[in-house]
Parts: sequence; C-alpha cells; structure tokens
Amino acid sequence: MSNEGLSALPPLREVIAKHGLSASKALGQNFLFDGQLLDRIARVPGSLAGETVFEVGPGPGGLTRALLGAGANVVAVERDRRCLPALDELNAASGGRLRVISGDALEVDAAAEAGAGAHIVANLPYNVGTALLVGWLGSEVWPPWWRSLTLMFQKEVAERIVAAPGSSAYGRLAVLAQWRSTARLAFTVHRSAFVPPPKVMSAVVHIVPAAQPEGVRFADLERITAAAFGQRRKMLRQSLKGVAGALDALETLGIDPQRRAETLSVTDFVAIARTIRA
Ligand code: SAM
Repeated sequence: MSNEGLSALPPLREVIAKHGLSASKALGQNFLFDGQLLDRIARVPGSLAGETVFEVGPGPGGLTRALLGAGANVVAVERDRRCLPALDELNAASGGRLRVISGDALEVDAAAEAGAGAHIVANLPYNVGTALLVGWLGSEVWPPWWRSLTLMFQKEVAERIVAAPGSSAYGRLAVLAQWRSTARLAFTVHRSAFVPPPKVMSAVVHIVPAAQPEGVRFADLERITAAAFGQRRKMLRQSLKGVAGALDALETLGIDPQRRAETLSVTDFVAIARTIRA
C-alpha cells in the first residue's frame, strides 16, 4: 500500500470550496479539518493496516483520509450527494480502497456491505447517532459482525454511554452499551475543532464486544431499562409495574423495590432480564 496519492491531495478546505460543500445543519454537518486530530481518531481502534472500516458520513472525506492513510479499506455511506465527486477523487488517490454507498445509514445493511470483522469509525451526524449506536449494540448475533466502534458523539451523550451507576448520566444507554461490551471515553474534542463549531463539546467513544451473559435477550434489557429509567425518580416497584414478571424478579433476586433505577448495577439489570425469561 502506498500513500503517495493521498499526500498529494489538496487541503480539505480547498476540496470544500471546489465542490461547494457548505455545511448543512439538517444533515448534522460539522466537518473536521485538523489532520493530527483525524489521525488520532483513526488510531483509536488499533492498527487498521489491511482492515475494513465502515464509516458513516464521510462528508468531504477528512476522517476517511486518515483511515485510508492508516492502511484501511473503507466502505462509507453518505447521504449528501454533493460529497460524492470529492469522495471519488479520494478513492482514486487511495488506489481504489474507498467504496462509497450513496444513501441513508439507517437503511443500509452495513453488515452485508462491510462484511464480518469490520471496524466502525465515524464522526456521526448527531441527529442519527444514538439510533445507529443502539442498532449496532442490538445485534442479534453476538459477538456482532463489527469488531469495534469508534464514534464521535456530543460529550453529554458519550458520558451517558460510559456512565457508572449512581451518576446522573447513568441510564438506558449505559446499560445497553456495557452489558456485553466494554465502553470507554477515548478523549474529548473541543467544539472549535469543527467547522462550523457545534454548540457543545464532543467526545470519542470506543466500544469493543465482550462475552454475552447467558440467558439474556437484548429486547428484554431494552424493555426493562426503558421502563426503569423512563421514570428514574420513581422507586422500581412503581416504574417496573408494567413489565410482566419484573416485580417478582426483584423479589427473587433480593433487590429492594424501593430502590431507584440509577442505583442498580449493569449486572443487576442483566439478572432481572434473565430472571424474567427463566
Ligand atoms: N466525516 C466528516 C468529518 O469528520 O469531517 C463529516 C462528519 S459530519 C458530523 C456528518 C456527516 O454525516 C455529514 O457528511 C452528513 O452529510 C452525513 N449524514 C447525515 N445523516 C446521514 C445519514 N442518515 N446517513 C449517512 N450519512 C449521513
């Protein structure tokens, strides 16, 4: 693999000017131009030499350049057709290591497009970021088709993904992200790094699949955590009333129904889901 073609590319700002890629708010477009920062994101999953990466929203291709520069083959899905000519140029410069799917990431079959073992890396459009994450975490097959997730979120969302019990950020996202994966906040990114700058700070989260606890289904955990954290100020005996078998499960497990959802560990939620199913 040679990166000569990539290093001969014009600066991203020129690419944007040439192709008229003014940022669209509706498409959640906040572009990154800082090559060092982009390389740092591309290093989070570990060595990408010869690996396949699935990227959502390459836009003008800043992060895509870093991924290709790290030796990856990239399959990217982009909704904004204006970006396609710039991405064609990037594909040519990389020696054909970039394949772009023009479409909506919520509708594309990423597993089929990228193949088993791909890493997912993205500076996500904020309006669809959580929905995509829950879709990837909810894979029926485990370990899933993806090897790791390296995702830029609003910092507040990133904190909810990695939160520990007892904190105000702890909730449904933390449980869904942590019950069969390890999730860590890799680093925060200042809002000024983006063009245009968003209103809030951002952070990169790194998630790697772990062993799945036996006898537990994602759908049950989703139901229980939605009910428990949907009324997070209420005691469990109130918030879990509508989930069949949940109050009995608390009794079986010796979990005090007067507790509130945020005091339960991820393991407690897993145990409730398993007991309901038993
Ligand atoms: N990767 C670029 C970077 O880091 O500079 C752009 C990131 S920007 C935050 C999000 C990108 O996702 C935009 O290019 C936007 O057009 C694209 N996008 C928005 N919604 C999308 C969707 N549903 N499916 C695919 N791409 C989408």
